Amino acid sequence: MQDIVSDLQAELGARVMCESAVTHAHARDTWSLAELLDYQGQPACSPIAVVEAGSTADVAAAMRICRAHKTPVVAYGGGSGVCGGIFVGEGTVVVSTRGLSGLISLDNGDLTATFGAGTMGGDAERMMQEHGLTIGHWPQSIEVSTVGGWVATRASGQYSTGYGNIEDIVLDLEVVLPDGEILRTRRTPRAAAGPDLRQLFLGSEGTLGIVTEVTVSLRPLAEHHVRQAFHFDGLAAALAPVQQLMREGWRPPVVRLYDPRESRRHFDEACPKERAMLILLHEGPKTAATVEASEVAALCEKAGGVRADSSAVDEWFGKRNEVPSFRSLVEGGLVVDTIEVASTWKHLVNIYDAVTKSLSEVPGMLSATAHTSHAYRSGANLYFTFVAKPDTPESMVDVYRDCWARAMRATLDHHGGIAHHHGIGRVRRDYLASEIGDTGIAVLSQIKRALDPDWLLNPGNLLPEPTDRN
Ligand SMILES: Cc1cc2nc3c(=O)[nH]c(=O)nc-3n(C[C@H](O)[C@H](O)[C@H](O)COP(=O)(O)OP(=O)(O)OC[C@H]3O[C@@H](n4cnc5c(N)ncnc54)[C@H](O)[C@@H]3O)c2cc1C
Repeated sequence: MQDIVSDLQAELGARVMCESAVTHAHARDTWSLAELLDYQGQPACSPIAVVEAGSTADVAAAMRICRAHKTPVVAYGGGSGVCGGIFVGEGTVVVSTRGLSGLISLDNGDLTATFGAGTMGGDAERMMQEHGLTIGHWPQSIEVSTVGGWVATRASGQYSTGYGNIEDIVLDLEVVLPDGEILRTRRTPRAAAGPDLRQLFLGSEGTLGIVTEVTVSLRPLAEHHVRQAFHFDGLAAALAPVQQLMREGWRPPVVRLYDPRESRRHFDEACPKERAMLILLHEGPKTAATVEASEVAALCEKAGGVRADSSAVDEWFGKRNEVPSFRSLVEGGLVVDTIEVASTWKHLVNIYDAVTKSLSEVPGMLSATAHTSHAYRSGANLYFTFVAKPDTPESMVDVYRDCWARAMRATLDHHGGIAHHHGIGRVRRDYLASEIGDTGIAVLSQIKRALDPDWLLNPGNLLPEPTDRN
């Protein structure tokens, strides 16, 4: 039988790249553990080839050829995933979506834009702003992630409290299925036409198909902005007005509340010691933004909030998309990661207390902190950051896994959901059954098997591989 690389080259020519610099650069994403393993000499495998698809037809051809050869295929967008969604195993072909880049259509009347899935988020947003429009999706990683990656991971942006998460913004999708067939959903604001097939791919993390085009519903850029900040006597004291403002129906796009340690780290003197800082952005038509800002301010002050200098908020906005690198931390012997979870209001403080307490009991833990950055009528997320310095380099991987196990266990014990927006990947894969039950795993596995009978799309990601499950 002919070698898969020759078959790919015969159909896709120079789009098939096998140079080691290229394949090495597509072996993994930004997962902290992958960085650590890499540093310790246990890197992910380099793929046998990287196909830089330039069209949906290229993706379909690559899928068909890989299926004929029973070769695993991994979709690669910006590589900014932080859960090990990309950690290539032996004999894998990577399909990079970066050639599927750019604006395909824009309809300013309907407020819709269609992008190639490999369009970088920042480029997509800038193209819209040139027309006075915005996607309203601002992950911190906007400059290093793709529109297709947002869909594949069910991403959240910093403005989600007002504008929703990616699933609220996506209008329709084009997806290449594992057999090379192309699925297109209809461009309509809503449908009662059976289960919503878009949802099957939102969060599928490259295991059910490769997203090739994404249509989003846009907004006009806001006429007016008001930024304000308040500090409170601790995280729990500040959660009460956040819950109340959501309950009353106010929808500031940005609602971020930091625990006292993170408040000092981010806002320094603008937030007194032991106080929790809440920052807010209100925007929209001038009258609406002004009224919302003043009503929310009254609510915060009634709850004991003290107005902080709004330059602290301006400073946060100035730095909000700076992307740190794990490499220098790993080189310094530090084990670091972020873990985002979610729950209904009544469990949030318990989860915060339980996770930070359990993490702080890890030997060598230097810091275990959290903030909440996405609020809903019925709850919010918590975003933990931990930094530990184990005694020896040999124990770093074990410490990393212990931290995750503690955070997952404490969240589940207190009725939280294990993942708010980074996805499952490999880091949470073995906790997914605790979230959706064995029946949920069986349903997802059967869907996977129906679409991808040979389990070739990103094996080992999101779901345990069939051989692991016995
Ligand atoms: C510093 C930093 C900040 C971050 N901030 C945020 C944040 O604010 N909000 C947030 O939600 N996330 C955040 N992330 C995580 C990450 O940026 C998101 O998960 C993002 O959506 C991933 O997009 P990507 O294009 O980089 O995907 P990749 O990392 O390339 O891939 C992610 C997963 O999706 C699959 N995939 C990629 N493209 C496709 C496609 N077209 N079709 C099918 N499957 C595909 C891959 O196989 C993989 O499993 C952050 C990451 C970093 C490093």
